[in-house]
Amino acid sequence: MTVPSSDVPHPRAPVPACATCKDLAGQRDSARAEFDRSKEADANVLLRRHLRQEHRG
Ligand SMILES: [Zn+2]
Repeated sequence: MTVPSSDVPHPRAPVPACATCKDLAGQRDSARAEFDRSKEADANVLLRRHLRQEHRG
């Protein structure tokens, strides 16, 4: 995944240094790999909420 250089980090991108982001992104990726759409959606909701609350995304 290539990201154009910018001063502002992508608001929806998981923060690599954050353990919670990494955990939720991993849950989402494994759910996607299992074609488990509801699990993937759950992980997306949790990740977005976490980004908003913890990273002001
Ligand atoms: Zn985070």
